Amino acid sequence: MKLSLLFTKTSKTVPSDETARNAQLLIQAGYIHKEMAGVYAYTPLGLQVLENIKQIVREEMNAIGGQEVMMTALQPRELWEKTDRWDDKKVDNWFKTKLANGSELGVGLTHEEPIVDLLSNYVNSYKDLPIFVYQIQTKFRNELRAKSGLLRGREFIMKDMYSLARTQEEHEDLYEKAVAAYYRVYERLGLGDVTVRTYADGGIFTPRFSDEFQTLSTIGEDTIFVDEEKKVAINQEIMSDESLQKLGLNKDKLVEKHAIEVGNTFHLETKYTDALDVYYDDEKGQRQSIIMGCYGIGVSRLMGVIAEHFADENGLVWPTSVAPAQVIICRMGTEVEVVKKAEELYGALQEQKIGVIYDDRDARPGEKFGDADLLGIPYRVIVGKKTLETSVYEVKVRSSGEISELSLDSLIQLLRSENS
Ligand code: ATP
Ligand code: MG
Repeated sequence: MKLSLLFTKTSKTVPSDETARNAQLLIQAGYIHKEMAGVYAYTPLGLQVLENIKQIVREEMNAIGGQEVMMTALQPRELWEKTDRWDDKKVDNWFKTKLANGSELGVGLTHEEPIVDLLSNYVNSYKDLPIFVYQIQTKFRNELRAKSGLLRGREFIMKDMYSLARTQEEHEDLYEKAVAAYYRVYERLGLGDVTVRTYADGGIFTPRFSDEFQTLSTIGEDTIFVDEEKKVAINQEIMSDESLQKLGLNKDKLVEKHAIEVGNTFHLETKYTDALDVYYDDEKGQRQSIIMGCYGIGVSRLMGVIAEHFADENGLVWPTSVAPAQVIICRMGTEVEVVKKAEELYGALQEQKIGVIYDDRDARPGEKFGDADLLGIPYRVIVGKKTLETSVYEVKVRSSGEISELSLDSLIQLLRSENS
C-alpha cells in the first residue's frame, strides 16, 4: 500500500465528540469513521486490523472443530416467542422493524434461537452430535450509552459460537475446549497477560456460573476481584460469601480491579433446544434432550481494547499479530536515486509477502515520522541519502523506540519471523 494512494488521511485534531481514547486515536489515524454514537465504519487500514483479529479467532475456533456459518440479521418474531424472549420486558435492547405487510422482525442482537432452528433441520440422531457452530457477524443492540468508542457499539462485530452435546460430560468437555481456545485467542492478540477468566452470573437458565474473559483496564466498566495466584477472578455482580465459598475463593486474597469484558462462555443447559423442540435419538432409539453452550467474543470491542491498551502519547502501537502492516517505509527526499532505492525495498518486501506500507508522499520528515507513530505500524524503516551510501536501513521498533541498522537480508529475516 502506497500512502499517496490511500484515501484516508491522518488528523492532528482530537475529535471533539469522542471521549474514549480508542475512538479518538482510531479516528485520528484514519482507521474508523464515526457514523453516529456507537456506530462506526472501517476504512481500509481499520478493516485490515479487524480482519486480522477475525482470522485469529477463526483459526482457533476451527482448531477445536468449529464450523463457520453466517446467520441472518433479520429474524422472525415467531421464533423468539417460542423461547419467550420477544417481549421488550424480557430483552430490552432490541432494534425491531416491520415488513410492508405488518409482520414484525427483530434485528439480530444474538442468535441462539436462529442457530437452534437452523440445526434442527440436520440434527436427529446421536450420530449427528456433538457440534460446534460459530459465526463472525454484525450484531445490533440499542445500548443505552455508547460513549466508549469500539468498546460499546450499537452495531458491532461479535464471534458467537454454540455447542450441542449429548451428555453433560460431553458438554463439559466442549466447554473447556472452548475456554482453552479463548486463552489462545487472547494470547495471540497480545492480551494474554492482562486477560483473566472471571466467574460471573450464569443467567436465568442455570444455577451455574458463566465465565467472562476480562481484560484488566482502568477504563473498564466492570469491577472484578482477582485472585492473582489462581489467575481467576469473580465479577462484583455475583460477589457474596455464598459464591466465594462455592468457588473456593478467599476474600482476603482478592484484589479489586476494573476490567473490560472481551468474551464470555455460558452453560445454556437444554433451555433453547427443548423450547424449539430439537432432540436426538440415542443408540436405543430413545428421545433425549440436547445440552447447549454458547461462547461470545467481542471482535470489534477487542480492536478498541488493543488500540487503547497499547497506545502511547504518540499514537497507536499495534501488536504484530493484528497490525495492518508489519513495516512502514519512510522515504526521505525525492532524489531519483532515493526514490529508486525505496521502490526497490518496497518491491522486495512485497515479494516476501511481508505486509508493508510505503510512505511515498512528498512530505516533511517530521510529518512522516509523526504519521508512522500515529498509525502504530510495528517497524519503521528509513530510506534516504544515507541509505544509498551505507546500504543499511535504519529500523525503529514502534513499541520500544529501539533503533538498529540492518542489511536487507536481516530486515527481511526480522519481519518474516514476526509474521510466522
Ligand atoms: P456487556 O456486559 O459488555 O454488555 P454482554 O454480556 O451483553 O456484554 P454478550 O451478549 O455475551 O455480552 O456478547 C458477547 C461479547 O460481545 C461480550 O463479551 C463483549 O465482548 C461483546 N459485546 C457485547 N456487547 C457489545 C457492544 N455493545 N459493543 C461491542 N462489543 C460488545
Ligand atoms: Mg456481560
